[in-house]
Amino acid sequence: MEALPRAFAWKLIVVDNEYHALKGKWKMMAEKLLEEAVRARLNAYAPYSRFLVGASIETENGNVYSGCNVENASYGLTDCAEASAISAMVTAGERKIKQMTVVTDASELTFACGACRQRIYEFASPETIVHFYNLSGKHESKKIKDLLPNGFGPKDLLSDKE
Ligand SMILES: [Zn+2]
Repeated sequence: MEALPRAFAWKLIVVDNEYHALKGKWKMMAEKLLEEAVRARLNAYAPYSRFLVGASIETENGNVYSGCNVENASYGLTDCAEASAISAMVTAGERKIKQMTVVTDASELTFACGACRQRIYEFASPETIVHFYNLSGKHESKKIKDLLPNGFGPKDLLSDKE
């Protein structure tokens, strides 16, 4: 069983999987992503649902971007944490997600909503991994190709134009 960053002193209940296959720099960065997502979560604006979510991204260039959910009194305008992190990445001029982390305080793990799976897919490779945590240390990691099988994406629109 792998230890989470000591600073969190969480009990780890590993359901999983892909995380164990991570080696060296991948694994170090996964731990940094967890810290960043936990930090971002604290800034979540969720007065209506009180469901705070933090997300973080490592890009192919090794840079890290984070985001939190941003609710709105007009509920449909709410942004998910994953969407905020992707916006931060794109704003900085980057396009390729290597791995990503999402943290909530739900008692059971929650996975990205359907819309966010599509948002991640847009900037992912088939090997892109998404790590899901809750604050009690439950953890599962999944490849985007398992989160969104047979996904529709850039390849379907751009392949014959390149
Ligand atoms: Zn979402």
